[in-house]
Amino acid sequence: MRGAVLYAPGDVRVEERPDPKIIDPTDAIVRLPVTCVCGSDLWDYRGINPVTGPAPIGHEYCGVVEEVGSEVRSVKPGQFVIGSFFSSDNTCPNCRAGYQTSCVNRAFVGGCQAEAIRVPLADGSLVATPGQPADEHLPSLLTLSDVMGTGWFAAVAADVRPGMTVAVVGDGAVGLCGVLAAAQLGAERVIAMSRHAKRQRLATKFGATDIVTERGEEGVARVKELTNGIGADAVLECVGTSEAMHQAVRSARPGASVGFVGVPHGVALDGEELFYSHVRLHGGPAPVRRFLPDLIERVWNGQMDPGRVFDLDLPLDQADEGYRAMDERRAIKALLRP
Ligand SMILES: [Zn+2]
Repeated sequence: MRGAVLYAPGDVRVEERPDPKIIDPTDAIVRLPVTCVCGSDLWDYRGINPVTGPAPIGHEYCGVVEEVGSEVRSVKPGQFVIGSFFSSDNTCPNCRAGYQTSCVNRAFVGGCQAEAIRVPLADGSLVATPGQPADEHLPSLLTLSDVMGTGWFAAVAADVRPGMTVAVVGDGAVGLCGVLAAAQLGAERVIAMSRHAKRQRLATKFGATDIVTERGEEGVARVKELTNGIGADAVLECVGTSEAMHQAVRSARPGASVGFVGVPHGVALDGEELFYSHVRLHGGPAPVRRFLPDLIERVWNGQMDPGRVFDLDLPLDQADEGYRAMDERRAIKALLRP
């Protein structure tokens, strides 16, 4: 089969790779009609995470079950399924608490920019759609595997409730999905922080009521101005840089929660500042599995269309162009078709 391999920073190649095979009796093989490039893949692509040698890349997937191991009970060949970037047994104490990305048996599902993948712990990880999706629903379903699930977790971790004013730091696909999640969860005002016209337009379509183009302390001041000097009731941090995290904490009112889902790179917070802020922090790798049944239903019923974050649609063989376009911020998110 064909699959993308990261050789070195800036060097993604699509090449022949071995077909995935059932290894454990709890595995499933899933054939992928669509896959995509994630903002977090760029940490590797840019060499910010060390690249130690050729490695298959990609961690977002949905598709048709091709084969299952002898112990798999809940999914069967032919079903269309979605899973998270971490597989989980969905039975351990952490899974039962809703934190499947901390499953005691978790395994990273990598190498997803490919024609097919092996998903470990298939019963606990994969959720089937009610039927075979129409082609036009594939992008939205694919976002549930990571960016929409992660934006949703950011909103849940920030304790977004109806009537709230929510600020979203970050206008990548996750931030935009965070805007959509906040709107779906009933936020009255959603302040999207973005300085890119195309992303501002999508944020508005997803439910943003206000756009703040300023960053850092100026961004914080603007959010305060929009909230009578108090700050937002909930803040979603969807970047992972020190500037974004500080902007998020300082945009929150006392008693607010910050849901942080950007993978932190060089983020350090001052304990004393945090102490006097009265702000709660909750985040981490999104337990996407917890939200999949609800999110599948919302897409299936046409309540939301997160697939609009894809503004570039390429054959898998042009994965390198997808990376380049996202790296240069020419594209929000690249869909790849194996
Ligand atoms: Zn578990």
